Parts: sequence; structure tokens; C-alpha cells
Amino acid sequence: MAEFSACTKCNFETTEPFAHCPKCGRRMLSSGRVRMLGWLLVVLGGFLVVMMGAITALVAANSSHFTGTAIQAMFMYLLFAVIIAFGLLSLAAGAWQIKYGKRNKTIMFVGMGLGFLLVITTIATLRVLG
Ligand SMILES: [Zn+2]
Repeated sequence: MAEFSACTKCNFETTEPFAHCPKCGRRMLSSGRVRMLGWLLVVLGGFLVVMMGAITALVAANSSHFTGTAIQAMFMYLLFAVIIAFGLLSLAAGAWQIKYGKRNKTIMFVGMGLGFLLVITTIATLRVLG
């Protein structure tokens, strides 16, 4: 796979070792660096999915011991689901970056939305549980 650099703002691509974009002056990201970060995303995403999957399975297996209300349980599972979705998206973003050597703006945009949803869900769950 050929090494290239892509601008973080205007998507200008070049095989020249520019540190800054000749078109808009923004920082250039090399494909090697994007791929390295992609692997990091895959590892983190995979870890999140496996960990939260295990926790969800554990909680579901012990649900007879759960003393909270149905609403509390619902919010808890919702929170687990959002975290797992976040992990899956990290996996997808990482896989994309490793394959193409650049970032996927759509996935990043969805990721920001999911991050926002995660904060809202966490606050709501803590309120319901508290
Ligand atoms: Zn640029």
C-alpha cells in the first residue's frame, strides 16, 4: 500500500512529504499514521464490545437478583447497548482507516452523535438509578 498524506480539512491528497496542506495550510495526516490510529481504534472498539458484551450477559444471567424496577433495568440495558454501538463504530472506523489510509468523515460524524447520545444516556441512567 502506497504512502500518502491527506489534508485534515480539504481532503487534498499527495505523495509528497508536506507537513501542511499547500491548498489551505491545514495539517496533513500521513496514511501510515492514520492506519496506526486505525489499529488503536480497532483494539479499543473490540475491547469495549467484548467487555460490555460480557457485562451485559452477566447482568442478564443474574437478572433474578436485580432489585430495581423494570424502568431501571431498561435504562441500564440501553446504556450497555449505546456503549456496544460505540465500540462497533470504533471498530468500523478503525477498519476503514487501515484499509484506505484516511479518515471517514461520515463515521466520525456518527461517532460524535453517538458520543453525545452516550453522555445523555449515562446521565439519564444515573438519574433513574440514583
Ligand atoms: Zn487542505
